[in-house]
Amino acid sequence: MLLNERKPEPMAEDLERLKQHFPLLEYLQRHNWRGLRTGARPEFVGLCPLHQETHPSFSVNARKNLFYCHGCGQGGDLIRFVELFRHLSFRQSVAHLEQELAAVARSQSVSELLAHAAAFYQLELHRHPEAVQYLESRGLQDSALVAELGLGYAPGGNLRRHLSGLGYSLDQLLEIGLINPQGRDAFCRRVIFPCREPDGQIINLYGRSIGAAFPHRLLPRSKGGLFAWDSVRNFSHVILVEGLFDVAVLWQAGFRNTTCAIGTHLSSAHLAQLSDAPGRCVYIVFDRDDNQAGQRAAHQLALQLKDLGLRARIVHLPQGQDPNSYFVAGATAADFITSWERAQQV
Ligand SMILES: [Zn+2]
Repeated sequence: MLLNERKPEPMAEDLERLKQHFPLLEYLQRHNWRGLRTGARPEFVGLCPLHQETHPSFSVNARKNLFYCHGCGQGGDLIRFVELFRHLSFRQSVAHLEQELAAVARSQSVSELLAHAAAFYQLELHRHPEAVQYLESRGLQDSALVAELGLGYAPGGNLRRHLSGLGYSLDQLLEIGLINPQGRDAFCRRVIFPCREPDGQIINLYGRSIGAAFPHRLLPRSKGGLFAWDSVRNFSHVILVEGLFDVAVLWQAGFRNTTCAIGTHLSSAHLAQLSDAPGRCVYIVFDRDDNQAGQRAAHQLALQLKDLGLRARIVHLPQGQDPNSYFVAGATAADFITSWERAQQV
């Protein structure tokens, strides 16, 4: 092979740039390493990802961007860590890190775009009385809560112009699904709930039709974890409902321990979230629909939760009701507590 056909070795400056853009501590945390800060120094200590151990001997100096393990004696920078952790050569490790960094940048730019769309819809909400009236018809009157949840409204027809003005191309908007292939706002005439990850980044938007269109719509990407899990996880008793309007009215009535997975199906990631505290009690309040689908789903889920070591209870609302319609029909927090107290153990 001719010498000039070989891919050039990574340059020292490129490696420095890579390490600066991807701090060692951030890389480790992205791969679920948990380290505790030791005193005031920028040093973190945790279990070594490179060998089996029960007492933490792996330390990371966040300022120097270096690690050292007192157990296995390994140490070095981010690239050295990837070589050891993934059993890759130096050059493969650099390529791996460049790929991962590009993926991080992509997901950050998507959530930035969704944040722009959500902020735009939020401003539109108050310009469209039909949207505010719809929220009232669903029992949501607390304007502070509406603002806290970041609720918005898509009147249709003007999102594309707004986002183009911010520099987004039509291709980007089509790819993420905010604009449909016909060039129209995919959320036209829908109330918008932003779905956030625990770090606050928006991962999806849920749009509830206020007209005759199919009621529910999400962008064709992950709907993320349980709604508002970052705050709900602090409770030992959690209320799990089907829809975001159920969450909203229960929060409004003071039940801040309410969350949902948007639907009755929970992914393994949702189940892992619910079981992140041992012995948590989950009250399942699914729709009491005539075909019993909600009740069957509730029962199945309760059994799954029990298998995971959680306590599960099924709350029965009056026939034909979901938490949202129950409150709209005039039920009070006290009425809900009465149903809760009668919850059936599974
Ligand atoms: Zn080690």
